[in-house]
Amino acid sequence: MEQDTRPFKPKASVMKDLYKILLKEASEQQNRSVQYAAALRKQVNPDAVAILKSTHLDLFEKIHCLECANCCTTTPPIINKQDITRIARFLKISPRQFTRKYVLTDVNEEMSFQRVPCVFLNDNNSCSIYEVRPEACRRYPHTDEESWFSRSSLNVKNTLICPAAYMILNKIFESIISE
Ligand code: SF4
Ligand code: SF4
Repeated sequence: MEQDTRPFKPKASVMKDLYKILLKEASEQQNRSVQYAAALRKQVNPDAVAILKSTHLDLFEKIHCLECANCCTTTPPIINKQDITRIARFLKISPRQFTRKYVLTDVNEEMSFQRVPCVFLNDNNSCSIYEVRPEACRRYPHTDEESWFSRSSLNVKNTLICPAAYMILNKIFESIISE
């Protein structure tokens, strides 16, 4: 057998089967999701935001991130300077050391973690830096934020990563547009 020279060995997925089925469906229904997200774009108002927030709470009672971790496994979070300072302090290293070891900066100066699956993801799908995780991780998939309505293309992209984001888009469309 050839030696594995990859710098990082991906962890085996431990995503629950139901979530895999939802993501397969989301992939097959991508055109429908584009239409739903576009239709919801102009629907932002206090009632719609209240429906979004309660749907988010309801869905995350049923879908458990510790049985999924697909965002952490597939998608490097965007990080900012405050994230770096906070996490470096937690890890007892300097921000410079942290940046050298973990951060990728692209041509637009946008920073993210270098690798997926995330190096801070534990084998049981928990996050080893949970208390100080990046703001982007804490807010993902943004389904309890008023700005969700205007982020059509990001919402569609997230349906392909996050089973909860897929369910929430469908439920919000049913509640607000096709009620
Ligand atoms: S920092 Fe934690 S929450 Fe964020 S991607 Fe890594 S494991 Fe997931
Ligand atoms: S936020 Fe979505 S993709 Fe990430 S672990 Fe939770 S359910 Fe899975």
